[in-house]
Amino acid sequence: MIDLASLNIKYLPGVGPKRAELLNKELEIFTYLDLLHYYPYKYIDRSKTYKISEIDGAMPYIQLRGRIVSYNTHGEGARRRLTALFSDGTGVIELVWFKGIRYITDRYKPGTEYTLFGRPTLFNGKFNIAHPELDPIDDRIDNTTGLQGYYTTTEKMKNAFLNSKALQKMIYTLLAGIQEPLPETLPAPVIAHRQLMGLTDALRNIHFPVSINHLRRAELRLKFEELFYLQLHILRYTRLRNQKLGGFRFDHIGDYFNNFYHHILPFELTQAQKRVIKEIRADMGSGRQMNRLLQGDVGSGKTLVALMSMLIAVDNGYQACLMAPTEILATQHYEGLKAMVEPLGLRIELLTGSVTKKRRVPILDGLLTGEVNLLIGTHALLEDTVNFANLGFVVIDEQHRFGVEQRARLWNKNKIPPHILVMTATPIPRTLAMTVYGDLDVSVIDQLPPGRKPIQTLLQYDSRRAQLYAALRKQLQMGRQAYIVYPLIQESEKSDLKNLEEGYDLICEAFPEYQVCMVHGKMKAAEKEAQMQRFVSGEAQIMVATTVIEVGVNVPNASVMIIENAERFGLAQLHQLRGRVGRGAEQSYCILMTSYKINQDTRKRLELMTETNDGFRIAEADMQMRGPGDMEGTQQSGIAFNLQIANLAKDGQILQAARDEANALLDSDERLERPENYIVRKELNRIFERQKNWGLIS
Ligand code: ADP
Ligand code: MG
Repeated sequence: MIDLASLNIKYLPGVGPKRAELLNKELEIFTYLDLLHYYPYKYIDRSKTYKISEIDGAMPYIQLRGRIVSYNTHGEGARRRLTALFSDGTGVIELVWFKGIRYITDRYKPGTEYTLFGRPTLFNGKFNIAHPELDPIDDRIDNTTGLQGYYTTTEKMKNAFLNSKALQKMIYTLLAGIQEPLPETLPAPVIAHRQLMGLTDALRNIHFPVSINHLRRAELRLKFEELFYLQLHILRYTRLRNQKLGGFRFDHIGDYFNNFYHHILPFELTQAQKRVIKEIRADMGSGRQMNRLLQGDVGSGKTLVALMSMLIAVDNGYQACLMAPTEILATQHYEGLKAMVEPLGLRIELLTGSVTKKRRVPILDGLLTGEVNLLIGTHALLEDTVNFANLGFVVIDEQHRFGVEQRARLWNKNKIPPHILVMTATPIPRTLAMTVYGDLDVSVIDQLPPGRKPIQTLLQYDSRRAQLYAALRKQLQMGRQAYIVYPLIQESEKSDLKNLEEGYDLICEAFPEYQVCMVHGKMKAAEKEAQMQRFVSGEAQIMVATTVIEVGVNVPNASVMIIENAERFGLAQLHQLRGRVGRGAEQSYCILMTSYKINQDTRKRLELMTETNDGFRIAEADMQMRGPGDMEGTQQSGIAFNLQIANLAKDGQILQAARDEANALLDSDERLERPENYIVRKELNRIFERQKNWGLIS
């Protein structure tokens, strides 16, 4: 049996050491197998050949068949160009080259018949084709099919004439040399169950499709395979970890939970909250450590779910803590939760960087003796001096602000790791969650508590600032508060800061009768806190800020969010910012300010914000537009998005199917030890050997 992975690419006929070096360096192609796995990025239908007499203004790339009649060179030096007349008997068209003149005239001889591929453009009233692709008619590759693959190449490769066409030829040679089918890399039952194309067929058709239909099936098979191994990798790791690490079994629901539920909880839980609490209860009662991601839009009631889960831990005799990314947020959580749990007779404490040593000592003592049941805090919770009697449950709010290592440190505070619930208001599309957080179980609160008035979002041009200020004044006169947010992007920090400060001056001038505060990331922490506090207390009515307010502050009285240069924010970020208002009973507004000169795509993006308040829809759209690699919450996950053919933004269904099959396989053979799974284990090792640093969460 041939092992393509062991054959060095330099031995492939037509490659040799020089080209091999380029392939190694530019495309990371080292072996025959690597080349075979280098797929076209697009296909062009070359089944139709046009006549020159048919060419009109609206044609994309077309194929012609004919002969070069004559060459002509024009101009000097850098402005030198080559033209040729190309005829097919029905007419003549001019071809133009601006570089590679010697190469062209040496290679393509007048009188020989060629297929020509290119895009006709109108120049001085006549059609011409610049830099066409020419192939001798008897080229076997062109005759195999109408669909031709195009391969990505780099500038260095092109300079060495190692272009898409050359790559295609190499792959053709390689495939022609494969007589017997390659060993199948997916388990036979999976292929049968999902009716997938066999490996050899798929590889042939991805490079040289017999038909559109064959191409689609080949793509499906190869995408499935890629996602199958990715999921297998993630799931195997998770399962092994779960097996190794037992967890606390919290199977008891006691007085704290019940009293809270029946006597303190001031409202009915939403169906979504009930469902999620059930999921968490099942996890915590299973004897395995829980690692769960809780997603829900801002205001969907995640904190309440967290609190009720913490009460289950306390009912089972354990302590729980909640970690928030900022001091203000921690303080708000503390105050909100304290009011609800103190009537139950529980002791709850707040620990942040600004808690003085004097107050810190009794808190730390209480944690050690177990008298403190619940601890709320910031990163300060991670310090080595913070030790618990029996920490059983950890909640991490707004998880994307914490790195993986920080979480691991909390984890390590016990011999048996506590159950972990991470909460985020940045909705992550399901497909992405299954990959980035593939080892976390995901719960979703997809419902807001009743009675909320949906926030109204408007797109407004800079030119209408006067009207904007009039509307804002009306809200302020009704006693409401407003945020005005400016972008602050690292690279252009200085000019952004200037924008912010000018904006602040402008607002102070326009609203002399109101108090304005300002917050930005460059401020000292204490100053920032002080400014925020002015807004939280209601002393200031307007807050001019950068995105530092994105996470955190809860000011139900704020009803207006104005976002300046909205086009510079990602959709997910806009959605987060918008979530700062609409927290009270009043109608709230979010105004996206932009210049009149935005392009069509940007306008579409911003218009989506005005159409929906659904964070998941927005996240999906954001991922479609920007691609999964740029999504918030993915960068620090350590997972490289170097998928070869699958696209997380588009292939959600395939991903789900692949994940189901991977799970089923592990259900039957968790360690992939059975002889029939040998090939799977081998593939898995081969694929992930190269990606040792695929960090996984927690
Ligand atoms: P999140 O953390 O998801 O942003 P919170 O838990 O802070 O949301 O809840 C937002 C507000 O809604 C809080 O004031 C909370 O008391 C309230 N709330 C939560 N659940 C419900 C519910 N089921 N019915 C009514 N109000 C609720
Ligand atoms: Mg919250």
